[in-house]
Amino acid sequence: MADQDFQQGFVYTGLPTRVIFGFGTRARVGEELRRLGIQRPFVLLSPRRAPEAQALVAGHGIEIASVFTGAVMHTPVDVTNRALAIVEETRADGLIALGGGSTIGLGKAIALRTDLPQLVLPTTYSGSEMTPNLGETSEGRKKTVRSPKIQPEAVIYDVELTLSLPHALSATSGMNAIAHGVEGLYAQDRNPIISLMALEGIRALAECLPVVVDRPLDRTARATALYGAWLCGTVLGSVGMALHHKICHVLGGSFGLPHAETHTVILPHVVSFNAHTVDAELRPVTEILHSLGAGQGLFDLARRLKAPTALAEIGMLSGELDRAAALVMESPYYNPRQPTQEEIRVLLEDAFNGRRPAL
Ligand code: NAD
Repeated sequence: MADQDFQQGFVYTGLPTRVIFGFGTRARVGEELRRLGIQRPFVLLSPRRAPEAQALVAGHGIEIASVFTGAVMHTPVDVTNRALAIVEETRADGLIALGGGSTIGLGKAIALRTDLPQLVLPTTYSGSEMTPNLGETSEGRKKTVRSPKIQPEAVIYDVELTLSLPHALSATSGMNAIAHGVEGLYAQDRNPIISLMALEGIRALAECLPVVVDRPLDRTARATALYGAWLCGTVLGSVGMALHHKICHVLGGSFGLPHAETHTVILPHVVSFNAHTVDAELRPVTEILHSLGAGQGLFDLARRLKAPTALAEIGMLSGELDRAAALVMESPYYNPRQPTQEEIRVLLEDAFNGRRPAL
């Protein structure tokens, strides 16, 4: 692998985000806001966490411009416009997003339009906080935008914020993170530094997720999962993704399927589809998962985590598979093995039925 990289040469661009990682690190919000020059933050939170907004900034002489709790999955543009009007009206000078990928996504959508600085406190393993990418939905289509304005300036990983993540979502969100790492390994613009991060992230997540699911309050396992999610998020922000992310993008944006669950179901099938083309890149994943093939290993891990393994379980209708396959082919991403529409249709059918993928 390394020799091939050296022969071909590669480009590595480091992401500029400052990262604070640990337990109880949300106590450092005030310090980080000062560093970013934010005095009137617009705070994005889930409704359940809204009462915590004030405590985040208490004692730092910071006045919250407004608290917004309306973020939803797949970043619909009408929600962004609603939040944006409040940001402007309240003269916010920066953004705090505390939550999962949906809350973070809304913060990024606002930053894209205003270039306000962002401080992010992730509570899931989505990895969105580490990327300059944003998937926005309007009129039933999800479009990806990439801009340096979208990349959060600072991220506070506080492991304690993840202790409440329910075991089902911990499992699927963890598989979502693994998907970033796996597709990073065979990205068109892959490089050895990002591959190191991908493998370390996949290893961390594969080892700790069974513990997280069995004992959600295990602090070491939770820290390992968040560390793995950070690394895999960095992979997502640094190199291009492939067929797996394209399919999930279509299924989420055009069929409203839940993000992390969709990633969990689709990943083993795409990895199995790509396996022979990128055998060397995927071999370490097979070793990490102690399996005969990376696709089967990921499928078995999802089962071990009691996560969904069939699109039928998460809201897909069989009558929609043809349209989904056509949409995937409409503006295809790079993939190491070029699929035909018929092959995508077969892959979706297997994923729909929850079949264990072939080696
Ligand atoms: P989410 O943010 O929608 O959260 C799912 C549910 O979990 C919500 O009800 C939320 O309130 C709850 N939750 C979150 N953290 C919790 C915690 N610690 N304890 C208890 N409940 C908690 O789900 P997600 O999978 O993190 O994010 C999905 C969204 O993120 C999608 O819109 C996806 O497109 C986007 N995303 C974007 C990127 C990117 O780089 N642009 C990367 C990954 C995901």
